[in-house]
Amino acid sequence: IKLSGTSRIEEQKLRQPIVVVMGHVDHGKTTLLDKIRGTSVAKREPGEITQHVGASVVPSRVIEQLAEPLKKIIPVKLKIPGLLFIDTPGHELFMNMRRIGGAISDFSILVVDIIEGFKEQTVESLQLLRARKVPFLVAANKIDKIPGWKPYPNEAFINSYAKQSQRTKELLDERIYHLMGELGRYGFNSDRFDRIKDFTRTVSIVPVSAKTGEGIPELLAMLAGLSQQYLKDRLIFTSGNAKGVVLEVKEMPGLGNTIDVIIYDGILRKGDTIVLGSAEGPIVTKVRNLLMPKPLQEIRSPEDKFLSVDEVVAAVGVKIVAPDLDNAVAGTQLYVANTPEEIEDAKNKILEELSKIKIKTDKS
Ligand code: GDP
Repeated sequence: IKLSGTSRIEEQKLRQPIVVVMGHVDHGKTTLLDKIRGTSVAKREPGEITQHVGASVVPSRVIEQLAEPLKKIIPVKLKIPGLLFIDTPGHELFMNMRRIGGAISDFSILVVDIIEGFKEQTVESLQLLRARKVPFLVAANKIDKIPGWKPYPNEAFINSYAKQSQRTKELLDERIYHLMGELGRYGFNSDRFDRIKDFTRTVSIVPVSAKTGEGIPELLAMLAGLSQQYLKDRLIFTSGNAKGVVLEVKEMPGLGNTIDVIIYDGILRKGDTIVLGSAEGPIVTKVRNLLMPKPLQEIRSPEDKFLSVDEVVAAVGVKIVAPDLDNAVAGTQLYVANTPEEIEDAKNKILEELSKIKIKTDKS
């Protein structure tokens, strides 16, 4: 083995960080995700898959392009291949995250309506992020509602901010100070992202409008930059057995029950034996088919939404077709296990996890 001068980590292939959007209802999670998805779809290159099952990817190429005008403030040289956003920001995933201990969440966006400030679910999200030690940034959303705000669609926040009146700038800064105060009450130091010197000690607040797209360049650049810098070890791609989390169990016409899974580590192949949780205990079954969404332009009929693939590599959202999935439970882990020992080991892990869920539901 030849050792080179570069560090071990630099030679490793990194996977996409998995980003989960959280926050109070109506503060703009869905709108923000739609905007982000639109960004990646519009700039998609032929053959590039940005739409996953239950998730979407923004490739680093797109993030670098968007961050180009921000170079002086956010120097981004990306080694990660992109960012993978989980598409369902609703209550269900929130519960799943509680159960699985934040296993899939590498980074989180806490969306807060800049006018409304902290609400009940903002606090709940914050407490969950703290308990699971998930790094996060705050998207201070709806800046277009600041009195006097003149929108510059899809502009970087700093460019748009520079063009606002003095009064409007002051009103925005007041709202940011207010958020900093709220975060302080829960023990977090925070500041507007472009005023932060030490990102390890300070939570970034990125002002955005999910409606006009202002601030989205900074939001993506900050997510990519921070997760790459502080999560490197966690993001090293391993080519071993896949590990994932079940997002949803769905009956599909002609296919029976299928599971939508986020694979956060390893490689999943057709024919692999998988172990996952059900109400009756661990399910051991074999992957019959792996399905990815077809790009919108290539869909010919409503039944023709998916593309069959032989294997997928983390991080990825994929639909798994397999027998015996009837009682599969969303929110549990999924392991590939191809030897009797691996199967036994995976079954034990699933049992342990199921017992924890049981305890949780009994208590509540
Ligand atoms: P969620 O419940 O957190 O997913 O919130 P939604 O994305 O459904 O947004 C709730 C409402 O706020 C919708 O009517 C959106 O159109 C609106 N909204 C979301 N983001 C913005 C924004 O940046 N500016 C404005 N003016 N409205 C927004």
